[in-house]
Amino acid sequence: MPVLTRLIPSPVVVDIRPGALDDLGCVLADERISQSGRLAIAVSGGSGARLRERIAPSLPGADWYQVGGGTIDDAVRLASDIKGSHYDAVVGLGGGKIIDCAKFAAARVGLPLVAVATNLAHDGLCSPVATLDNDAGRGSYGVPNPIAVVIDLNVIREAPVRFVRSGIGDAISNISAVADWELAHRVNGEKIDGLAAAMARQAGEAVLRHPGGVGDDGFLQVLAEALVLTGIAMSVSGDSRPSSGACHEINHAFDLLHPKRAAAHGEQCGLGAAFAMYLRGAHEESAAMAEVLRRHGLPVLPEEIGFTPDEFVRVVEFAPETRPGRFTILEHLDLKTEQIKDVYADYVKAIGS
Ligand SMILES: [Zn+2]
Repeated sequence: MPVLTRLIPSPVVVDIRPGALDDLGCVLADERISQSGRLAIAVSGGSGARLRERIAPSLPGADWYQVGGGTIDDAVRLASDIKGSHYDAVVGLGGGKIIDCAKFAAARVGLPLVAVATNLAHDGLCSPVATLDNDAGRGSYGVPNPIAVVIDLNVIREAPVRFVRSGIGDAISNISAVADWELAHRVNGEKIDGLAAAMARQAGEAVLRHPGGVGDDGFLQVLAEALVLTGIAMSVSGDSRPSSGACHEINHAFDLLHPKRAAAHGEQCGLGAAFAMYLRGAHEESAAMAEVLRRHGLPVLPEEIGFTPDEFVRVVEFAPETRPGRFTILEHLDLKTEQIKDVYADYVKAIGS
């Protein structure tokens, strides 16, 4: 009998707990990621500087690099700064921008990347993608998965609560994204990766069903794990399919049509997911999702993030154009303006105010 198996690109270390940051040097040494302690650590000027003060004494062999922002130029500059210094690894210590900069720079100089996330705003912290601003707007660059992911729940608690809320919306939207993937499989015969779909959906369901709130360590643990597993699900499938469907097309449409007024990524994705579930006829699931989003202080109606119903209708209409080639419930139904207005009115009634 043939033994068939596959290797999954995944981090060697996943360390999620209160106090994880204080043990960073030991964990990297124990796991042979950095036995010499020679690390290039990328941080931001603000919260990163404070963390640096706290943990620098425990990492005597590290050099610290302050990263300006989340542009391709920042990432290229970081790569040229660290090149030739014989580090064991690059550490991205911060939010999404810093980690994505460090991911790109590490890939460019051929070093492994250790992602130390200081907030839980989205599922990009462990994904094989670096999202960076470039001259043409924003680009997604394929990079290796991080070799280690470290999330200190005490640090997460220090970040503004809206970052945690954003991560909740992003994780829960997996449920809608996987439903879109299954739809594309049924209607178009698109290949579905069952393992990636399972990981992403279970991550979303775990967050959806957890009774805790943004202040509980138990809930933060599950949320952080969900976001990490979602990133690995994207590595398994080789694209963002497990976590990005109509929910994310709606999010991109908010960003593109209203770049100055757009809300947080996960706020828009969560709202997009609750609406997309309603569109696909999963009315109970949509209402349950809306209830949980509300409980965590996330928006379920466009007015709650400053958009009129008409603006939202336009966002939904424009959404399919943001991801050409991706088939979701939006492309499937191909609704005209008046139809979107009608179904939106039904959605508002169904979830209640
Ligand atoms: Zn997302």
